[in-house]
Amino acid sequence: MTQPNPLAPKEMERLRAIDRDTLWHPFTQMQGHQDEDPPPPIIVGAEGNSLIAADGRRYLDANSGYWCLALGCRPTRVEQAVVRQMSRFSQSTLLGLSHQPAIELAERLTALAGPPLSHAFFASSGSEAVEVALKMAYQYQVHCGHPERSKFLAFADSYHGDTTGCVAVGGIDIFHSTFGPLLFPVVRVDPPFGYHGPWEEADAEFVEKHANVVEDALRQHAGELAGLIIEPLVQGAGGIIPQPPEYLRRIVDAARAYDVKVIFDEVAVGMGRLGRLFAFEEIDRKPDILCLAKGLTAGVLPGSAVLASNDIYQAFKGAFSDLKTFFHGHTFTGSALGCAAALEVLDIFTEDEGAYLKRVREEVIPAFWKTLEPLRNHSLVGEVRGRGLMAGIELVKDKAKNEPFPYKDRTGHLTVLEARRRGVNTRTIADVLLCAPPLTVTSDELNTLGKVYRDSLDEVCRIIKL
Ligand SMILES: *Cc1c(COP(=O)(O)O)cnc(C)c1O
Repeated sequence: MTQPNPLAPKEMERLRAIDRDTLWHPFTQMQGHQDEDPPPPIIVGAEGNSLIAADGRRYLDANSGYWCLALGCRPTRVEQAVVRQMSRFSQSTLLGLSHQPAIELAERLTALAGPPLSHAFFASSGSEAVEVALKMAYQYQVHCGHPERSKFLAFADSYHGDTTGCVAVGGIDIFHSTFGPLLFPVVRVDPPFGYHGPWEEADAEFVEKHANVVEDALRQHAGELAGLIIEPLVQGAGGIIPQPPEYLRRIVDAARAYDVKVIFDEVAVGMGRLGRLFAFEEIDRKPDILCLAKGLTAGVLPGSAVLASNDIYQAFKGAFSDLKTFFHGHTFTGSALGCAAALEVLDIFTEDEGAYLKRVREEVIPAFWKTLEPLRNHSLVGEVRGRGLMAGIELVKDKAKNEPFPYKDRTGHLTVLEARRRGVNTRTIADVLLCAPPLTVTSDELNTLGKVYRDSLDEVCRIIKL
């Protein structure tokens, strides 16, 4: 594997100037972006679980390239599978033609997910997968004679992507409120968010209270609802908000009772992030539509999948002139390269009777939470929450009163900059500091993460004189 040489200072300056003047970064206030200290690293290479910047510095990636680099920053086997596919062909459309990698991936995914998830539709990103799911669920209702069932039940603080349909069902005001006039209406309910837990199944009262909210909404609105969309077990970008499994079982069963189609957006939580191939394996219930992306291709290429139940698929069949066709498709629907990457990822996760994810469940995840445990006592930390390899560390101004920092202070971001100084790349969502390393994270790297997060928080305390 060739490693990049650090760039000459002059070359680095050139890139930084273009970055400042020309490149518009996502989810980034560009004013001030380049004045950050230390400056945003320019990545030129990667090795193991670390990114390598133009100045030669390494950053342990505690956010997995935004939750997609499940197998580390250089998933060699997946990269090689893509190269092999490239030596055959890179792209051929699924409109009117078919191709081998898409066929094989459809077979693998549906076999692994099992009935009723019998059909696979492909797209390129998580957002596209969610758009497909929403349109599929609505068109299904139309075919069943219920065009009036055009709404979705969705959750406050949910995140389903950034295209307009995804934003409509998403519930993060800071991201989404600007676009209000562009969005279709949804039936919105509060997620089971209880600051400082409890998340455990054992808390029957908590489950009862929050499941009742959903059941009431279903009772009241079922006649207008095409589907219910949820990030199962953990709402990610809303601030790492976990749900008790029993809550999820309750609301899935309730939705079924009203023939409201259940869409699981497993874009973040699927593909090993929670220690299972599919998050739904943890709850003994399956959705009618399943969205996968992020880890699906181990972050090597864009790629996403939507698995649909057989009854949904069958409802779209009809004579050509019935116009029951699903009129939806992207140029890169079923990209041969993306499919080849996903097939390799599935091989890695399923060979040796699933030994890879078994180790993640039994060793990596427990070690991860053990690493984060001491942070709970830190004076800046209100709560450490999450599931699997997804943690949110909520920073608070006053621990005793759970008082948040003012949004404008960017205390979370200050912590990110301190972590960067110490060789760790992470992000925050408001003041929730993220920790979601690759599944390949080693115990040495976990020790590093624990120490860097603590030292960074200590330094922030000093800076803000708390
Ligand atoms: C990231 C994410 C999406 C959007 O996926 P993109 O590939 O960024 O479009 C959708 N849903 C969830 C839960 C996500 O975490």
